[in-house]
Amino acid sequence: MAKGVMIVAEQRDGALRKISLELASTARKLADQTGDEVSAILLGSGIEGLAAELGKYGVDKVFVGDNAAMEPYITEAHAAVVAKVVKENDPAILLLGASVQGKDLSSRVAAKLATGLATDCTDVKLDGGQFVAIRPMYAGKCFGEIVTGSTPAMASLRPNVFPAAENAKAGAVVKVDAAVDAQKSKVLEVQKDTSGKVDLTEANVIVSGGRGMKGPEGYAILEELADVLKGTVGASRAAVDAGWRPQKDQVGQTGKVVSPNLYIACGISGAIQHLAGMSSSKCIVAINKDAEAPIFTKADYGVVDDLFKVVPELTAVCKKLVA
Ligand SMILES: Cc1cc2nc3c(=O)[nH]c(=O)nc-3n(C[C@H](O)[C@H](O)[C@H](O)COP(=O)(O)OP(=O)(O)OC[C@H]3O[C@@H](n4cnc5c(N)ncnc54)[C@H](O)[C@@H]3O)c2cc1C
Repeated sequence: MAKGVMIVAEQRDGALRKISLELASTARKLADQTGDEVSAILLGSGIEGLAAELGKYGVDKVFVGDNAAMEPYITEAHAAVVAKVVKENDPAILLLGASVQGKDLSSRVAAKLATGLATDCTDVKLDGGQFVAIRPMYAGKCFGEIVTGSTPAMASLRPNVFPAAENAKAGAVVKVDAAVDAQKSKVLEVQKDTSGKVDLTEANVIVSGGRGMKGPEGYAILEELADVLKGTVGASRAAVDAGWRPQKDQVGQTGKVVSPNLYIACGISGAIQHLAGMSSSKCIVAINKDAEAPIFTKADYGVVDDLFKVVPELTAVCKKLVA
């Protein structure tokens, strides 16, 4: 009978991504309710040492597939190994990140396992032993509870929503064969973000700008505020389409889904497609000169004024506070 909670951990350049620890902690919480084991699949090259860190966050057993074929990440190869390990170990629940990589991998793995997948979940629970995944629907207007009739019940979890808490377990390494047959696709080039900034999906603070920034040069004041708050700058699609910001900065339905502790929306009206990407932020501050802008319906704090006046003042105050 299917048993236990399994996660698919993510690493990049030999370091675990934050979502891996969030997955481990969430899995631990679920497994503790039934007295079951938490296991993890960790794929890459030269990554066995990362198993101990997963152990610190509640993982009992880590299936390590350490093979040059696993680096860099490629859907086909990773999906084949993940599906094989899942079939051999028969977990009741399988959790992945709803990160860029996790979104890519989870759908392929679900198809290989012929099981149901609840994507981009913001909560999970056990209800009378039944795994229930909770996800925003209709651009965050309501939440759906998803129950999967097949096993494993699969869910991808939105990054930055689930807390990562240390809870030391063994993190025992079980080596798995990660050799794969010749693949139809191969990675020709990896273009790395060299900005040195935290990725939007992992950022604790995001200072985001829209059409109200008036042009690319307007973002200098947002960069300054973000630097003071150790945050990352985001953008609305209007700003990206205008060529003011790169596509990787776009927040929303066709951009990134983010859940920072603090989201400061400057000159963003709050169209439904933008809200879909940021409404799970823990605290939303909106700065907009139009008191009727829809962003204020989602904001915890709102400033109705010219952002070119408010943002520099806010930066000056924050500088004093962090000094
Ligand atoms: C299929 C589809 C997918 C989409 N996906 C996305 C997506 O992923 N992300 C996204 O963001 N959008 C997306 N959109 C576009 C979305 O509908 C909006 O057009 C877009 O979000 C508007 O961007 P904005 O708020 O920056 O611009 P606007 O709606 O033009 O708002 C600009 C705001 O700036 C304010 N402002 C202007 N000057 C100042 C000032 N000096 N001080 C203070 N406030 C000022 C104005 O009052 C206004 O509220 C999508 C649309 C479609 C159809």
